Amino acid sequence: MKITDVKLDVLVWPRFDRPFWTSINEVGQVSELVVRLRTDDGIEGIGEAHGGSIHHFDYQGVPRMSGAAAAIVELLGPLVIGEDPLDNERLWQRMFALTFSKGWARAGFSRREIMTAIAAVDIAVWDIKGKAANMPVFKLLGGFRDTVPCYVTGGYYQDGKSLSDLASECRTYVGMGYNAIKLKIGGVSVGEDVERVAAVRDAVGPDIDIMVDVNEGYDVPTAIAAARALEPLNIRWLEEPVHWYDHVEGLRQVADATSIPIASGEQALHRWDARDLVMRGGIKIMQFDCTRSAGITEVLKIAGMCATQNVNLALHHDPQIHGHVVAAMPNGEILETFPDATRDPIWEELFTVRPEIVNSEMKLLDRPGWGLELNEDTLQKRGVKSVL
Ligand SMILES: [Mg+2]
Repeated sequence: MKITDVKLDVLVWPRFDRPFWTSINEVGQVSELVVRLRTDDGIEGIGEAHGGSIHHFDYQGVPRMSGAAAAIVELLGPLVIGEDPLDNERLWQRMFALTFSKGWARAGFSRREIMTAIAAVDIAVWDIKGKAANMPVFKLLGGFRDTVPCYVTGGYYQDGKSLSDLASECRTYVGMGYNAIKLKIGGVSVGEDVERVAAVRDAVGPDIDIMVDVNEGYDVPTAIAAARALEPLNIRWLEEPVHWYDHVEGLRQVADATSIPIASGEQALHRWDARDLVMRGGIKIMQFDCTRSAGITEVLKIAGMCATQNVNLALHHDPQIHGHVVAAMPNGEILETFPDATRDPIWEELFTVRPEIVNSEMKLLDRPGWGLELNEDTLQKRGVKSVL
């Protein structure tokens, strides 16, 4: 089998009327890069990527193809066309080698842009592998189970949002059947955040799991203070508590100072970043995002490394892809989901066929590959006519 064609769609949704805030960043818009690889025997593989490196558009009024998309057109597409998509390791190494080849920096892409591009292509390669084997990817990867526990990410800061608004938002999730909810913290004082989390605990009762996500909003002493203040509220994990510049050793200090397990990994680019978080950062929950960086081929290595250290996987974002990895592995713990369509219209609009989430569980579909069908109307409507 050979790859004959690489097709790209850069999808951009309109800005939200009421942006969502984490501790220090606005989530004001979403976008997704969709790659389709065609093969000479008629299989089409779907790959997806998201993240900061595909958010560059509307430059001086001209829609501009994102860095990751451009990296696929200029660098990765020519590398994989004519190659056998079943050889995912060989293709991955060829693509990754671009990032340390002589003169690579002259291509003008950041490492992150190339790693995001690799993610999209590698994910499409795995769709082809599943379709060629006539089995779902989660089966191909190990098939540990076919349902995955899911949690909601919500509790964002928004203009005018009161404590009772937050509590009723979380009651809505419980009403939808969710039994685990993650809240954003770190955007106000520790005291105010403890009040927010306590209000949610009161609203949902003792049987719902609550996680908190700082999105790198604290220095180490503040993170330790917040962790200790939150301990009585029975928190399942504390996520990315420390500013970006001290995210390994600083994280370790926080991990050593609290009984709340630490989660991190959504910013990691590859297995070596992931290793540092586990071996030196003291995390207990790995959130590597293979739709943002490096793809399935890489997350399999990370999953194995985590298994040796008793670290579980709770992969970040894009549940339609990460659900397969979490389902495949014994150390797959839980999946992040965004049921609020005003926060994640992609989940609502991008597919005509995708798995459903019922009672806090995703049941993987018994369909080859990712099992996804893209909504062509959405591709037309949200696709950006891009220029390099
Ligand atoms: Mg997070």
